[in-house]
Amino acid sequence: MKLNFTLLIIFCLLLFSIDANSQNIASTLTGGEYKFNANKTPCLTDVQREEVLLKIKSNIAVLKSQKRLAYDGAQQRATHPLFSWPVKKKEGTPYHEVWAISNYVDQNPEFPNKVLDYNCGSKTYDNTAGYNHMGVDIYTWPFTWKMMDYDEAVIVAAAPGQIIDIGRNQFDRSCSFNNNVWNAVYIQHADGSVALYGHMKKNSPTTKSIGDMVERGEYLGIVGSSGNSTGPHLHFEVYSSINPDVFIDPFAGKCNDMNTDSWWENQKPYVNTNINALLTHSAPPILPTCPDQEITNEKNIFAPGEEVYVAVYLRDQMKGTKINLEVLRPNGSVYNNWDFDLAKDYSSSYWYWIIEVPSVQGEWTWRATYQGQVLDHKFTVKTLGIEDEDFQTASIYPNPFNDVVNIQSKSPVKKVSVVDILGKTVMAKANAAASINEINLESLSKGLYFLTLEGNDNQKKIIKMIKE
Ligand SMILES: [Zn+2]
Repeated sequence: MKLNFTLLIIFCLLLFSIDANSQNIASTLTGGEYKFNANKTPCLTDVQREEVLLKIKSNIAVLKSQKRLAYDGAQQRATHPLFSWPVKKKEGTPYHEVWAISNYVDQNPEFPNKVLDYNCGSKTYDNTAGYNHMGVDIYTWPFTWKMMDYDEAVIVAAAPGQIIDIGRNQFDRSCSFNNNVWNAVYIQHADGSVALYGHMKKNSPTTKSIGDMVERGEYLGIVGSSGNSTGPHLHFEVYSSINPDVFIDPFAGKCNDMNTDSWWENQKPYVNTNINALLTHSAPPILPTCPDQEITNEKNIFAPGEEVYVAVYLRDQMKGTKINLEVLRPNGSVYNNWDFDLAKDYSSSYWYWIIEVPSVQGEWTWRATYQGQVLDHKFTVKTLGIEDEDFQTASIYPNPFNDVVNIQSKSPVKKVSVVDILGKTVMAKANAAASINEINLESLSKGLYFLTLEGNDNQKKIIKMIKE
């Protein structure tokens, strides 16, 4: 996947037009597209698919011989299931929604670059080797690796059924084509149809076994990046029957030549605009190279006079539309209000601005309004306690540095980490018992780094430093 991290680091984008209400916006904005699977990696190769289907068929035969096959015989009379959505956010995540869609089934059997999705669009892919995408790819957004590491995007059963195969212990931080095997759960429904849930996080698949039953909405696993994958996503693939195997596209649309009716209880719109997250940060979020976890720099408590990075994370932003953004004082009055033009269609995008934190203490509101959706994020402005203030005076010397960096802080430093300009963590150290007062960075090459100091109660300070 290609990350536009240059955009995050270099403040070089569009100048912001200032109107009467936006005088408090301290800086220009930045942001852009987040593009998932730019490399068109096949989720499952033909050889792998053949192995998966053979294994499913053989497991079904075994279950049948043991008289444990749940839907033997009955399947001819049942109608196909109506799926509920297979990805949901974990309770308590700070995000409003956790997913976006990068690719549907490729309805055009020709290749390469002959693509057609169910809606007659081109949100799908094929490749020169003859691979036509055979599923829907639902990826995590925003902070795709952080979501995987914190189990924030949960895969649930789209329909009730019987587990007919499961794989759980494969490597899960794939970034490109590698021919790896994925972690997956395979479910047969009452009509004999089968759904494949692929790319799960290692050891996340349900502890249930082959032959066990699952309910609709039941936990199956965590969105991960096992197998052929460029980042965490669920590949959801459906067969109306398995012996012989008949592949279908669960989305109904003008260009779905495989089946006429939708297999979704409530089919999601093709363009499904959403504000996935509205956040405040202490510094720009860093999207490192795959597969490192993002450094999100999320922060909700600010001191008067501090800078607040206000950010919005969109799914399916639409060309030619506007998003309205507002910061409201604790009493609800408008501190600033501006419109931002969205010039292109993107499956996922992020945009942020820098606001100088006002002196009025209390609970402020960061609000975005887009396509009829209104979302609020609260942040608090308050004078910091003495310990917090002490922490903010923490400093380092020497800077620029050569090898050992000394840390001076009146209150204890419990954790330190160093990231390079691309957001890759190059050093991390924690000491719960005593304050950390020096770090050895002899092995780093010359350049710019960011040191994060962490203390008690979410105290955090980021210091820019230069290795000579
Ligand atoms: Zn896929």
